[in-house]
Amino acid sequence: MAQPKIILTGDRPTGRLHLGHYVGSLRRRVELQNSGEFDKIFILIADAQALTDNAANPEKVRQNIIEVALDYLSVGIDPAKSHIFIQSQIPQLAELTVYYMNLVTVARLERNPTVKSEVKMRGFNTGIPTGFFTYPISQAADITAFNGTVVPAGEDQEPMIEQTREIVRKFNSTYDEVLVEPSILLPDNKSCLRLPGTDGNAKMSKSLGNAIYLADSPAEVERKIKGMYTDPTHLKVEDPGHIEGNTVFTYLDAFSTDQDFADFLPEYKNLDEMKEHYQRGGLGDMKCKRFLIKVVERMLTPIRERRAQYEQDIPGVYEILRQGTAAAEAEAAQTLARVKAAMKIDYFNDGALMKEQIEKYSK
Ligand code: ATP
Ligand code: MG
Repeated sequence: MAQPKIILTGDRPTGRLHLGHYVGSLRRRVELQNSGEFDKIFILIADAQALTDNAANPEKVRQNIIEVALDYLSVGIDPAKSHIFIQSQIPQLAELTVYYMNLVTVARLERNPTVKSEVKMRGFNTGIPTGFFTYPISQAADITAFNGTVVPAGEDQEPMIEQTREIVRKFNSTYDEVLVEPSILLPDNKSCLRLPGTDGNAKMSKSLGNAIYLADSPAEVERKIKGMYTDPTHLKVEDPGHIEGNTVFTYLDAFSTDQDFADFLPEYKNLDEMKEHYQRGGLGDMKCKRFLIKVVERMLTPIRERRAQYEQDIPGVYEILRQGTAAAEAEAAQTLARVKAAMKIDYFNDGALMKEQIEKYSK
């Protein structure tokens, strides 16, 4: 039988989702979901992971579960095709994590570049919580519990998927061929691998206050784009400007289409022509920003409208989460049973063990 194609991906409920999530993962998820090429799709709201660096603030995590769920539904995740579920409600994930911990060294975790940079960014002043340090292992549990083969995610997730693959190989060679190796599916547009923040910072992130949220109002989007980081050497309109590191152009790379040029800025056929003009000099930042506002608004308008509809039916959204979680738990329970059997720690189902011991004591 061919290996079923299964998607597992998710987000931490530490805030509403933003444009970085959209281009890094959400947009792709919806395309994959609607392609009909996947046997199963699981989308996890990673509240247990969010608690690893928010232990003292469970209320923040609790409030943001519904926000992330609303964002999912608003971008077009369809509960009839994708199971949306809450990580902490699936005890099997914590159990798998415990067993996988034995297969990973502390030194290996210390080498994870994403964890390193996140530790630096968060500046834990009383030390790194063990749960945070080990979250790549818990992520391996999330992926393997559902036999995930494809993980659509941003570039920062590469070390996590590599860690997961190592755990899978170690488990399968130590015990039995039970787990499936996943692969990451990165955005094919380079600007989307790690969308910068509006401040020009390397990553748009909920935690850095440099994000444009999918649920922002048109006025907020306009304010944020108008205040965006551009090229600090481009002082007068006539000055030649730089594209590299210019956040407005990175966003245009990520979002604009030729149709946007035809409709909103017909003096250029496409982004390349606009970039050339900017580099030559004579194209002002404000004009670029006004175009970007239109591009982003065209994309966000239908998302906002769908969100507004779901906001009117919060019990319905919780019902979607409840059903998605039940489906996910059934799947994770099957994997855990196979894991425990492979490790030979399913004592009460292990007839061979009892027989062996009866014989041992009957001599
Ligand atoms: P936090 O600051 O709490 O870690 P976050 O904004 O980094 O939040 P996550 O929930 O950690 O968001 O990330 C979820 C998914 O979104 C991952 O697949 C990640 O790669 C992707 N992602 C997040 N930010 C970006 C970004 N700026 N560009 C591209 N992908 C992103
Ligand atoms: Mg993150």
